[in-house]
Parts: sequence; structure tokens; C-alpha cells
Amino acid sequence: MSILNADLHCHSVVSDGTLTPEALAARAAANGVELWSLTDHDEISGQHRAAAAARSHGMKYLTGTEISVTFADQTVHIVGLGFDPDDADMLHGLMETRGGREQRARQMSDSLALAGVKGAYEGAIKYAGNPELVSRTHFARFLVESGVCSDTYEVFRRFLTEGKPGYVSHRWASLRAAVTWITRAGGMAVIAHPARYRFTPNEEYALFTEFKAHGGQGVEVVTGSHTAAEYVTYAGTAREFGMAASRGSDFHSPAESRIDLGQLPYLQGELTPVWELLADRIQ
Ligand code: AMP
Ligand code: MN
Ligand code: MN
Ligand code: MN
Repeated sequence: MSILNADLHCHSVVSDGTLTPEALAARAAANGVELWSLTDHDEISGQHRAAAAARSHGMKYLTGTEISVTFADQTVHIVGLGFDPDDADMLHGLMETRGGREQRARQMSDSLALAGVKGAYEGAIKYAGNPELVSRTHFARFLVESGVCSDTYEVFRRFLTEGKPGYVSHRWASLRAAVTWITRAGGMAVIAHPARYRFTPNEEYALFTEFKAHGGQGVEVVTGSHTAAEYVTYAGTAREFGMAASRGSDFHSPAESRIDLGQLPYLQGELTPVWELLADRIQ
């Protein structure tokens, strides 16, 4: 069934969102979400709280995370759904993936200082709810707070992206590792917001082909990061590669996110929704 208000992509204070897992669950339920997943970046320590909060609101729940991967010299995000949140290899892999963030944040701060923005490391850390997970989003909030930019979109346009001050390239997990952690822990790997990457057609084809070869099964089609035209493009990609389709807002914050929890169009009816293949993992 595609006519289900499933929101399988969002972030809490455990990574770079501004709401607690409990507040997100309440907001999702108020917006009519029927099946929810909290997908914090490289971190699953919010999973038991999120599942309990979902239950208290009568929502169904799938465990979730969004793993940072480096593929063809770009950062790609792989969402994991329905895995065992206590799986030892997954916990270890995610810990290693988070490991480089502290040093990267210090380098980002040094780079911003050269561009005239002082104290960015200390400024960003204040916004990080999880000391192990300092992200570009926390720097973006500091740059807005200090008046350098008027919103986080402007920050990413002027800073923190490739070729701009504050950008530090970083090697994340491999595609093979991320897909393997998720699938060995009983879950499904899903390519997040594919339209966001700047791949050539050949590189994108290689991403989908290698992802499938490693055991990946899903792709986000309806996401807060895609336009209506991109829903159509990636529905086609899902069919071409025989992949299940996912739907998720990528909600981070009431003040910053353009799309609220549960407020996206439904998945197109001809696609196989990821939740159909994950029926026995739904809590
Ligand atoms: P990081 O994992 O530290 O590289 O931070 C990545 C996060 O920054 C993403 O998950 C988004 O929340 C945010 N982000 C990245 N690029 C943009 C952008 N162009 N506009 C707004 N937010 C962005
Ligand atoms: Mn994020
Ligand atoms: Mn992402
Ligand atoms: Mn995300």
C-alpha cells in the first residue's frame, strides 16, 4: 500500500536536528504520520527512545539511521531502516564513522577563521546536542546566530560547501561497509535523496549498480530534498533497478526545514514501498 503516511527520514538532537526524539514523535503524530523512523546521522543512540515515543502516540516504528559514505569522491547518504539497534558491528561501524568529526570541525573552524569568522568551533559545539556529532548544520546555526548570514541556506551557499570557506573534505565510510552493517543487522539500505548528488550519469549508474551488488534494496523517491520532477525521475530509477521506494521529509527543525514531518505527497502507486518489504521489522 502506497497510501500510507510514512515518514522515514528525520533528525533529532542526537545528530543535527533541534528537537528531541520525543518532541519529534509528538510532532509526527500530530501531523498524521502512521509509520515513522528517526534517522540520525551516523548515530543510533536515540532509537530506543524514538520507538517508545512512537508507541506512546500509537504510531508504527522502524529503526533508522543515515550513514555518511564516500563514493566517487563525493559524500553520499545511505539510510538504514528496520535493523537491530543493538547490533554490535553496526554500533562499532557508526562509532568509527563519527570518529573523524571532531578533528574535521577544528579544521573547519581554522578555515572559517582565515575567512574572518572567529570562534566557530566553540560556537558550533554549543549547538551540538551530542558531543560526538558536530556537523556542518551546527556551524550553520552559529553563523546565523553571529549575524554572518541570515539563514542556514545562505550559510551553505556562501560557506561550508566544496570550494567555499569552511569546507573541509572528509573520507566517510565505504558504500560496501555501510550497506553491509545495515543488512547484516537485519535491515534495508536505502539511497538517500539521490538528486542532491553532483554525479555524472555514469557515476550515478555506478552508485546504483554497486549499491545493489552490496545488497542495497531501496531508494528515496519522495523526499524533502526533491522537486516534483525529481519524484518522477527517481520513480523511474527505482523501476529500472528493481528497487523499493521510500518517503521521508528529512525534517531537522521547525525554524529551518521547508517540509514538515508527514507533509509530503504520497509515494506513486506503481512503486513497491520499502515498508512492504520490511513488514516483519515494523514495531
Ligand atoms: P555533515 O554531515 O557535517 O557534512 O553535515 C551535513 C548536513 O548539513 C546535512 O545532513 C544537512 O542537514 C546539512 N546540509 C548540507 N548541505 C546543505 C545545504 N546545501 N543546505 C542546507 N543544509 C545542508
Ligand atoms: Mn542533517
Ligand atoms: Mn542526507
Ligand atoms: Mn537527513
